[in-house]
Amino acid sequence: MTETLSTLLLHGGDGPRVVGQPVSPAPVLSTAFFTHPDAVGFSAEDLKAETPHFYTRWSNPTLELLERRLALLEGGEAAVVFGSGMGAITGLFSERLGSGDHLVLSDVCYAGVAEYAHHQLPRQGVEVSFVDASDPGQVAAALRPNTRLVHVETPANPILRLTDIAAVAAIAHAGGAELSVDSTIATPVGTNPIGLGADYVCHSLTKYLCGHGDALGGAVIGTAERVAALRRQSLIHLGAALSPFSAYLILRGIETLELRMDRHEANARALAECLQAHPRVRRVNWPGLASHPQADLARRQMRNFSGLLSFSVTSGGAAMARQLADRLTTVSTAVSLGKTKSLCFFIPTEDILRSSFRLAGKAADDYRDWAGDGVFRVSVGIEAAADIIADFEQALG
Ligand SMILES: *Cc1c(COP(=O)(O)O)cnc(C)c1O
Repeated sequence: MTETLSTLLLHGGDGPRVVGQPVSPAPVLSTAFFTHPDAVGFSAEDLKAETPHFYTRWSNPTLELLERRLALLEGGEAAVVFGSGMGAITGLFSERLGSGDHLVLSDVCYAGVAEYAHHQLPRQGVEVSFVDASDPGQVAAALRPNTRLVHVETPANPILRLTDIAAVAAIAHAGGAELSVDSTIATPVGTNPIGLGADYVCHSLTKYLCGHGDALGGAVIGTAERVAALRRQSLIHLGAALSPFSAYLILRGIETLELRMDRHEANARALAECLQAHPRVRRVNWPGLASHPQADLARRQMRNFSGLLSFSVTSGGAAMARQLADRLTTVSTAVSLGKTKSLCFFIPTEDILRSSFRLAGKAADDYRDWAGDGVFRVSVGIEAAADIIADFEQALG
């Protein structure tokens, strides 16, 4: 039976129904499983699809259920979960990229990914080009004969810039490279990158998929063959395994993902429209706004515009950051995103340009133009929209 996303969130990948078994699967916390000398080998190379569970860093029933569900939600053949989003993305990079290979990376993306690509990959002999992936032409121009992977984040944290996945997938494939898409902010409710041509989808499960801010996790979804290689080389050997208890919390969060995303989106729209009209606000970035520079692409590529927005103020961003931290009462001043409660955090432009993005010349000027002296990133929660808006109005003064 083909099920729709709404149903897959609750049932996708469930095993056969057995009378007397629990309807809500309990987390299997055991690290080891009864086995037989003929059933398993000690080498990751011995791992086969039919190998039974024997050690949780290899596989575990709770992790396997989460993997089956994520693969179905993204329309991929298989998924492998990791202890965090960073574990998933660096696991993908380390399996796909070796000495002499070239990576094309979006010049605005999650700070941890940008820093890893900037500091660590060159030490492993991997060349990295940073491009504005919102312009597919820049991706095409950056490709080299040794380009193995193009990695983009859409929408990109924190300025909500989009990448045209179908266009960039075609460019990457024509150049003999693969495309990986960090779809953490879009979620499977908003976008399915594999259906648009991406080879891999990466998620920080820590964010909207878990949704409650109480478990770290990450995933890569792709073909069964590629995912098996990631499991052998990146999960089993690098060892960033997900705790089955966290997987249980994430599975529970996923059950309400669509309901939450509908509310996150509606609240983000209400707050974005209100902030846009506020005299202290210079610019609001949210893919669902008609003023977003890629509003057409957003409508084509996103079924839900998600709940993450950013805004800059007319002047004095750092002072306003302190004022908001002191005055906000419903909204919390905190990093992270995608949880039920509203969060707001100030990202100073010069700081992030120096530490993470390393944009040069025109790219840095473009970022300054976008961000002013800093952006307030708001992960709009599922409280009453009127309460979130009232909190910002009293705090902005
Ligand atoms: C948070 C985040 C990550 C990293 O995920 P962790 O679970 O914190 O390791 C990667 N990409 C994006 C877009 C994120 O928001």
